[in-house]
Amino acid sequence: MGRVSTLAAQLWWTAADEAELDLLVHEFVKTAFRHREACAICRAGGPWCRPLSEAFEVVLDWRAGRVLRSKADWLRARQEAAGRSVAATRGGLF
Ligand SMILES: [Zn+2]
Repeated sequence: MGRVSTLAAQLWWTAADEAELDLLVHEFVKTAFRHREACAICRAGGPWCRPLSEAFEVVLDWRAGRVLRSKADWLRARQEAAGRSVAATRGGLF
């Protein structure tokens, strides 16, 4: 959870990103809890079984992709805003 808080502190990590991650984590935890009740491997207390590990990988993959996309979107918007600012200074259209 510490890493999630670090994300929330980033300028490019939006409230919508945070809400989607919260939802995904909530659904994963709920599903993992239900799965554990029915899975002898996971109930044994050792490493998770392959299906649960793969489900967790999906959550991590989504998070990594969202980080890259949100950072790229934010940097693009910042670059465009800087461009508009330069154009305004030079008496451009914006
Ligand atoms: Zn399992």
